[in-house]
Amino acid sequence: MQTDNTSPITINVRQSTGTYIAKANGHKPTASCTTGPTQAAESLARKIGLAPSMLQERQRDGLGYGCSRFIHSGELATNTSDKAHCPNCGICHTREETCIEAKARIGGVA
Ligand SMILES: [Zn+2]
Repeated sequence: MQTDNTSPITINVRQSTGTYIAKANGHKPTASCTTGPTQAAESLARKIGLAPSMLQERQRDGLGYGCSRFIHSGELATNTSDKAHCPNCGICHTREETCIEAKARIGGVA
């Protein structure tokens, strides 16, 4: 389950009747949002345990209408605050433990 490699992840966002749907290459979960493509991509990044602040929007050249593309470095979200309580996932864990690992520890299944 655990992947240590931080290869870049592409997130594609498609607009469909006012809803933005984000999908990531190689990841099953999707996220939808009506606010905008960036918010949809951030929501999906959180879902798959990536640090939302690391998202970068790519040029739309060659993409269809209503489509956006984001690139993520693949860096996993972790507790970057100085507090024990993680601002990303709400679980108390350290900087060394990623949010995915913390969720797996608390809930058994990530
Ligand atoms: Zn966390």
